[in-house]
Amino acid sequence: MAIRKPHAALLASPGMGHLIPVLELGNRLAIHHGFDITVFAVQTDAPPTKSELHTNPNLFNIIVLPPVDISGLVDAGATIFTQIIAMMRQSISNLRSAITAMKSRPTVLIVDLFGTESLVIADEFEMLKYVYVPNNAWFVAMTLYVPTLDKEVAEGEYVCEKKPLRIPGCKPVRFEDLLDLLQGRKNQMYDDYVRIGVEMLTADGVLVNTWEDLEHTTIGALRDHKILRQAVNVPVHPIGPMIRLAGPSDSRSKVLDWLDMQPTRSVLYVSFGSGGTLSVQQITELAAGLELSQKRFIWVVRPPMEHGGFNYLSASKEGCDGTLDYLPNGFLARTHKVGLVVPVWAPQTEILAHPSVGGFLSHCGWNSTIESIVNGVPLIAWPFYAEQNMNATMLVEEAGVAIRSKLLPSKEVVMREEIEKMVRRIMVKDGNEISARVEKLKNSAEKALSKGGSSYNSLSQVAMEYMGGLRRTKPKPYSLSSYASVSGSVNSPSRDLGPSCAG
Ligand code: UDP
Repeated sequence: MAIRKPHAALLASPGMGHLIPVLELGNRLAIHHGFDITVFAVQTDAPPTKSELHTNPNLFNIIVLPPVDISGLVDAGATIFTQIIAMMRQSISNLRSAITAMKSRPTVLIVDLFGTESLVIADEFEMLKYVYVPNNAWFVAMTLYVPTLDKEVAEGEYVCEKKPLRIPGCKPVRFEDLLDLLQGRKNQMYDDYVRIGVEMLTADGVLVNTWEDLEHTTIGALRDHKILRQAVNVPVHPIGPMIRLAGPSDSRSKVLDWLDMQPTRSVLYVSFGSGGTLSVQQITELAAGLELSQKRFIWVVRPPMEHGGFNYLSASKEGCDGTLDYLPNGFLARTHKVGLVVPVWAPQTEILAHPSVGGFLSHCGWNSTIESIVNGVPLIAWPFYAEQNMNATMLVEEAGVAIRSKLLPSKEVVMREEIEKMVRRIMVKDGNEISARVEKLKNSAEKALSKGGSSYNSLSQVAMEYMGGLRRTKPKPYSLSSYASVSGSVNSPSRDLGPSCAG
């Protein structure tokens, strides 16, 4: 009797930073564990191009779900988080129809952080359900523990007193490193974040893009810490670092040709992810700082936003007319011998893998972070938004692979003199203690992924659970409805927000 190949459906939320890790997980499951893979991508107004995806069509099928209209559902000035949540919610019925129409139906559903509301579909089709968080275990521990905190800790305790958020067995999260939605009064975004945590707790498992040696303590706590395990009763599988594979050699760009001509480890790569955007003043200071440092650089630039920020839903080359008149006068001419400025998008994984690159000034998105580590490239941490402050703190204080300014670039402008100093410190010819640590982590990442390594075994375990059709036994710690009735807080617009911090 022919044995049917396992078939997994992966759901990716909008944005390259979300799609890329899901595709990579698909690659891994197909190549190493013999899965058939169907990736469902939720479409934005800037769908990725095929060359950006670097996927092998023989390995899996990508279905782009029809675009959804959220204009009547969210305010014009809604945050990216709110927009993505709305798009994912509106896409649930499209996903259901697409799965219904499939001849060979998948039997496991893997969603990313923003897709947890679609886990109901897994229940409807009796599929196993997993959440893939392309982030670190510390962030996952916080997300899974916040539903408990929401019930147990008075809101005022960390909002008014600016106290760290304590997660049993893990490093506390400093108030200023918390997600914005945890720093203010409870609102719809906070409710959505708690809901995501609650829904993750109902999954058969949570996959996370990290590895044992990078986050030994947090991973250990998620596995064994008595108090944390009581609150977080879902298996967490560290399966990383998963990064996008370098593209085919025929797609070599002029950036890589330029890198070929530079000395080993001499170039600083500067990029703020798929949508990070600086203010005019910060662009001026960064340009001046690079110039003062006299080091070689590649800088991925985007037209400025008023206060800087984040614009990745519409980040596309097409949206940019290619003029660089927002850069300081004469900057391009003065630096053309040592620097290359690339508008909007560059082949980042190929750049970081190039021997001429010796440092990365990064916004600390998790994909960028691990792409840097697996290539042994030390970082200057420049966090902006979302969980990037946590990532930066971890890189500087725990892993010791990055330096950063004392200022938070999301709140203040980092001046040229400080930028010059940081660039000179990271771009040292013969390496330093930071480069030695990143090299060590790079080796441990290779080990974790190789056959018999911790991450390889973790993913094999998930694949085996799947083969055995092993659904997690109930009861689960929370179901969304029982949770809502206990706390009265999930999506309950009329709930009492408690006393105000004022006074
Ligand atoms: N990326 C890229 N070229 C760019 C900017 C980003 O290839 O010019 C890729 C990068 O390699 C990474 C992803 O886009 O895989 C960005 O993800 P990350 O988590 O670092 O940040 P986000 O964009 O989600 O803030």
